[in-house]
Amino acid sequence: MIDCQNILDNTYQKVLKMEHVGDVASYIPELSTVNPDQFGVCLITKNGEQFTCGDATVKFSIQSIAKVLSLSLVLSKIGDKLWERMDFEPSGTAFNSLVQLESENGIPRNPLINAGAIVMCDIICDLFDDPKTALLDYVREVSGIKDLQYATDIAASEQATGYRNYALANFIKSFENIHNTCNQVTDLYFHLCSIEMTCEQLAYTFGFLANQGKQIKTDMKVVKPAQAKRINAIMQTCGFYDEAGEFAFRVGLPGKSGVGGGMVAILPNAFSIAVWSPKLNKHGNSYRGMKFLEYFTDETQDTVF
Ligand code: GLN
Repeated sequence: MIDCQNILDNTYQKVLKMEHVGDVASYIPELSTVNPDQFGVCLITKNGEQFTCGDATVKFSIQSIAKVLSLSLVLSKIGDKLWERMDFEPSGTAFNSLVQLESENGIPRNPLINAGAIVMCDIICDLFDDPKTALLDYVREVSGIKDLQYATDIAASEQATGYRNYALANFIKSFENIHNTCNQVTDLYFHLCSIEMTCEQLAYTFGFLANQGKQIKTDMKVVKPAQAKRINAIMQTCGFYDEAGEFAFRVGLPGKSGVGGGMVAILPNAFSIAVWSPKLNKHGNSYRGMKFLEYFTDETQDTVF
């Protein structure tokens, strides 16, 4: 991409100069200790070229961004059978909402809201004898981070306060769409959400979605090309929960956010970009992350629209 570093640097400076509003997530106590002014960006092209700005090598909690990795794991193992357990429609509700599950008989709207990710964790518990180890090994392989560990302090913090997620698991189980115990499933879910990466690592990890399902550099076949297309479609329509329309409108790329303040966006067949800034808007998405990607895609016209 012509002048990519320059455009990234200018966009970064523009966002830095703006008013910095929002709040760091505090409903998971361990997340509230982060320095809110950190701000990193990394873009990796499908050819492996890398461009960074700011705190691109600082680790942070990727939280719900990891739901995309549970989705790629489950799709690669059971394919379209996943859709017997959940739908792929946008929810238009908050990430941790219970409201649609009652009228929709415990079938989550999509895999990227908490309800859907909890059902995917149930599927992973069915697929593996030691699901926590299997999931970690999988993320290690896709990301190339050989010594990746779960952040057990973050998992424990969420385990102590994750009332809505316990409610979701129990509610879904009452409709028999969870087969394992709620404790097994929420334990895996909290560990999935606890994974930490830097912007550099995150942009690289998601490179397979910009490369028809094959990891860049290693050529690992993470998912089939048609599955990569579907994951991108689900990120586009569901990755930002009740702000998915806003993200499409402002940024125009498939993307996924997390309450740690990270977000990833993909331009299929071109690049993966990770942005991190911990202060969140009222939908739980990074304030600066949204601004950065909006200005970046306005400037470059690197968008799917
Ligand atoms: N672990 C968080 C939760 O379940 C993930 C939410 C998010 O990142 N949006 O509440």
